Amino acid sequence: MAIQPPDAIDADGTAPAAVTDRRGRELRDLRISVTDRCNFRCRYCMPREVFGPEFRFLPRGEILTFEEIARLAGIFAAHGVRKLRLTGGEPTLRADLPALVRMLAQIPGVEVALTTNGSLLQHLARPLADAGLTRITVSLDSLDDAVFRRMNDADFPVAEVVAGIEAAEAAGFRPVKINAVVRRGVNDHTALDLARHFKGSGHIVRFIEFMDVGVSNGWRLDDVVPGAEIIARIHAEAPLVPAEPNYTGEVVRRWRYADGSGEIGAITSVTQPFCGGCTRARLSADGQLYTCLFAASGTDLRAPLRAGAADGEIAAIIAGRWARRDDRYSELRSQATAGLPRVEMSYIGG
Ligand code: SAM
Ligand code: SF4
Ligand code: SF4
Repeated sequence: MAIQPPDAIDADGTAPAAVTDRRGRELRDLRISVTDRCNFRCRYCMPREVFGPEFRFLPRGEILTFEEIARLAGIFAAHGVRKLRLTGGEPTLRADLPALVRMLAQIPGVEVALTTNGSLLQHLARPLADAGLTRITVSLDSLDDAVFRRMNDADFPVAEVVAGIEAAEAAGFRPVKINAVVRRGVNDHTALDLARHFKGSGHIVRFIEFMDVGVSNGWRLDDVVPGAEIIARIHAEAPLVPAEPNYTGEVVRRWRYADGSGEIGAITSVTQPFCGGCTRARLSADGQLYTCLFAASGTDLRAPLRAGAADGEIAAIIAGRWARRDDRYSELRSQATAGLPRVEMSYIGG
């Protein structure tokens, strides 16, 4: 299907002015969950006790089609979104993902990125690159095979993910960003090794603080390893210098190796929240719009879409919801807020 360029995109391909929320934050990024299913059961995200054989995943008819996703993405782009990121669940489980990437890549003024557990990248990296994907982030919590298998709780070998990263590199993705969630007593002892492995490779490891996403991952503040602690450990072995943000509102704090052999990052949403610069919306696989990762409810875009609403009507719903946005969960977080209701990350899109 050919995507019609949204009317509001400027002729030179630049994104138009974005809508702003109650805290003056623009709507610039859209994370699109293409499936709520996953072949891993990372304990911090989809613990097996909750996401077991009885768990009711979204039925096929409730999930947005590629055409519906592309139409919504075009409307978001017409209102200032510049970056689309495909996520999930595990996005590469969605059949024929490159076809969706090809449709999204035709929308003027946006780049299309992917976050994946890397398990299927050996086969998909090249078709995704050919379809127009511009960036890949691979989640890899440890290079220690036993630790990794325990964390993904699917007995998935780390060598396959490493081979997936190599396939991404061979397909032209550089740098590949490597996301590692750090949990005290689980994998923090392997963080240094992960940094060492990718130092000088051209790829960028980012350490992520364990977050209280969803309500099923048993989050405790004691399990969070502050990003600053990890950075200090690496700095003690390989001196680091702070790097400037690439753009305003960048969520990752960046450091460069003093010897010029690359960079690393820390995503410190618990110890140093960055809600003030948060320009992200999320679209769940069944077409609900969420304005925060920690939201309890979303705004239905699928119903108007399927009822035949015009682009302008859907745009008005999106703009109206964003204009009312006041979220800043990470700035208000406490052990008490961890008990508040909210949707699971695998559903809303990480
Ligand atoms: N399945 C894909 C993957 O793992 O990359 C995409 C979806 S996953 C929900 C997106 C990102 O969220 C991953 O990098 C994952 O490590 C991160 N994540 C999941 N649960 C988390 C938690 N409790 N705290 C911090 N990051 C988390
Ligand atoms: Fe799956 Fe990604 Fe969640 Fe792990 S973090 S269970 S790979 S969706
Ligand atoms: Fe954005 Fe919500 Fe995360 Fe704050 S807590 S950075 S508002 S997604």
